[in-house]
Amino acid sequence: MTVELICVGTEILLGNIVNTNAAYMSEKLAGLGLSNYYQTVVGDNAGRLKATLETAVKRSDIVILCGGLGPTEDDLTKETAAEVMGRKLYEDEKAWKQIVKFFEKRKLNLTENNRKQAQVPEESIILYNKNGTAPGIIMEAPECKIILLPGPPGELIPMWETYVEDYLRKLSPEQFVSETVKICEAGESAVETELKDLIDKQTNPTIATYAKVGEVHIRVTAKGRDEKECRKLIKPVVKEIKQRFGAKIFTTDENVTLEQAVVQLMLENGMTLSTAESLTGGMLTSRLVNVPGVSDVLKQGFVTYSNKAKRKYLGVKRGTLDKRGAVSEQTAKEMAKGGASQTKTNVCVALTGIAGPDGGSEEKPVGLTYIAVCIEGKVKVKEYLFSGERQKIRESATTAALTLLRHYLLECLTEKTFGK
Ligand code: ATP
Repeated sequence: MTVELICVGTEILLGNIVNTNAAYMSEKLAGLGLSNYYQTVVGDNAGRLKATLETAVKRSDIVILCGGLGPTEDDLTKETAAEVMGRKLYEDEKAWKQIVKFFEKRKLNLTENNRKQAQVPEESIILYNKNGTAPGIIMEAPECKIILLPGPPGELIPMWETYVEDYLRKLSPEQFVSETVKICEAGESAVETELKDLIDKQTNPTIATYAKVGEVHIRVTAKGRDEKECRKLIKPVVKEIKQRFGAKIFTTDENVTLEQAVVQLMLENGMTLSTAESLTGGMLTSRLVNVPGVSDVLKQGFVTYSNKAKRKYLGVKRGTLDKRGAVSEQTAKEMAKGGASQTKTNVCVALTGIAGPDGGSEEKPVGLTYIAVCIEGKVKVKEYLFSGERQKIRESATTAALTLLRHYLLECLTEKTFGK
């Protein structure tokens, strides 16, 4: 089964929007074991879209189009696809009712051109849209199947999950199942070296590593007749990976983030947390707040950018700032200690560093960062030298803070100096 993607929209050609739909769908297709050989972006132009689609239906078994299903004149995808497949359009009653309901609920005015969105090609499967107005459409012909999806990712992704994934799975002769092992405290090359023997002899399942900022994800993918067979093939490989990386693995769940793993660890042990941030300016707190239920753990976040704020809110000593500087081991330690005592939390994480591009010196270069973790009055601090642009340095520091926090928490829990 070969699949081809066509993303419609002049905005994509102009670089006004990034084609995240293509990235999303490509990853999903690979996971389903469907071969995706071509991807095209075409503007809102009927002639060029028709020519692209005519070529696609000749060379691929399934053609997926996204975008251009809207109510305006330049939304031409459905009309063009129906023409290429030789189908007439009619108004689908259920789609129209849903559009009316969608507008009523949001107290928006319906315009006559919205009626265009309830038009569907005859003999098609209609994918009703719970998150927008344009329904998705599947047209089947012996030689090719065409799937039309709306452009907004907030509509396309739920539609994919609700209908398209299952539809494609049934067409795929084989099942592909993946499991992801997520690691912190190790770089990609170190992880690859550790796995070299497994990677060298891999056939089924396959092992691939993906580097993220401060994390490495290992994806194990098996091919088989059904999910059960795939899971059976994956199990011993994941077990082996777990043995090799131990506590560096923070989750084996694709959907769990590092901040979620840290918050979960603190919740399980009844701990409370505060943050004291300088160079990250609230980024760490924001990552933590991404986690639902964090309010039972996170009590307060300080953004203390100036020396004055570090003194006033965290009690960092004037002498420390004068003698050692704001970016120093001692300042980070005092920030963490001060944050914990001000908020009466068990744990406080503090960060101070030079995000750049200015402000660095030979002695203290851009990227130099100190992260301190105070647990029950005991402070540990670590020095880092991050590379890259300002934003990258701040992101690296945030991930490193979560990693270090997790590391010290696990250490304290092992030594039983902390926790329930
Ligand atoms: P609507 O029904 O909302 O009019 P549509 O199906 O006509 O949607 P477009 O008008 O092509 O879709 O795009 C609407 C918006 O969806 C774009 O402005 C953009 O924000 C987003 N979008 C469209 N295509 C893509 C894509 N390939 N990747 C990411 N976002 C996209």
